[in-house]
Amino acid sequence: MTSAPSRKTDIVTNALTIDVEDYFQVSALAPHFPKESWNDTPCRVERNVLKILELLDRSGARGTFFTLGWIAERYPKLIRAIAEQGHEVASHGYGHQRASDQTPEAFLADIQLAKAVLEDIAGCEVRGYRAPSFSVGLSNPWAHGCIEAAGYTYSSSVYPVKHDHYGVPDAPRFPYAVGKGLVEIPITTVRRFGRNWPVGGGGYFRLLPYPVSAWGIRKVNQEDRRPAIFYFHPWEIDPEQPVVKEATAKTRFRHYVNLDRTEGRLVRLLQDFSWGRMDEVFLPAVTASN
Ligand SMILES: [Zn+2]
Repeated sequence: MTSAPSRKTDIVTNALTIDVEDYFQVSALAPHFPKESWNDTPCRVERNVLKILELLDRSGARGTFFTLGWIAERYPKLIRAIAEQGHEVASHGYGHQRASDQTPEAFLADIQLAKAVLEDIAGCEVRGYRAPSFSVGLSNPWAHGCIEAAGYTYSSSVYPVKHDHYGVPDAPRFPYAVGKGLVEIPITTVRRFGRNWPVGGGGYFRLLPYPVSAWGIRKVNQEDRRPAIFYFHPWEIDPEQPVVKEATAKTRFRHYVNLDRTEGRLVRLLQDFSWGRMDEVFLPAVTASN
C-alpha cells in the first residue's frame, strides 16, 4: 500500500453507485421488517439521498442511483431531482427481494415493474439493473435472461468474491457479455494471493480503514487499467437511524459498524478520485469492443 497519492487529474473516471433503499429494507434485517410493516415504518431515505446529492454536487461527481420501485413511488420528486442533477436513474428492482429467493416468473415481474415505475417517474430510459444483495449467481443461471428480457442493457449484480450471503468467487472481474444485448458489470475487486478481494464498497468500506479502499481502486486503475465501481447505501451515512436490538450480533456489527465515519470517508473518496455514471463509464467501451 505504498502507491503515490493520486491526483484527480491523472486517473480514469470510476463509477459511483448508490443502492437506494431504506434501512428497513436491507436483506439482513428482513426478518425484523416484514413487507407488511414497511408502510408504517418511518422512512429516512429522502433526507439521506438529499445529503448524498449535496455531497456529489459539491465535488462535481456524477453517479448511478440503483433505486427500488417501492421508494420511487413514494418519493417521485426525489427521483426527478436525481435525474435533473445529471445522475443516472437505474433499477434495484421493486420490492428488494433477492433474485435467488424468487421464481423466474416472479423475478421477471418485479424487475419489469421497477423499470416501468422508474421510467415513468424519471422520464428517461432505465438501462441498468442491480439485484438486491448481489443475488445473481450459480443458483439462478436464468436470472440474466430475465434481466435481458425485461429490457435492461446492463446488470451490476455479481460480486466476484467469497462471502456468506452472496458472491461468485470465480466470476470474471471485469464487464462480460451475458446475452446478446446484456452486459454484466461486476463490483470491483483486487486480485491478490490467488483470490479476489472486495474493494468496491459496502460493509468493507465501513469496516476497513479508508486507505484500503483507496489503494484497491488505485490498483485497479493503474495495474488493470480499468475503471472501478464503488457502491454504498443512503443508510450508511445515517448514524441516527433506529437500531434493531433484536438482530443477531453479527448482523448488528455488519450493519452499524462505523456508520458515523462513512460520510467523512465518502468525502475523501470523492476528492481523491474522479467519479461518473455507470452508463457513461462503461457502456461506450462495451459497445466499442463488441
Ligand atoms: Zn439493496
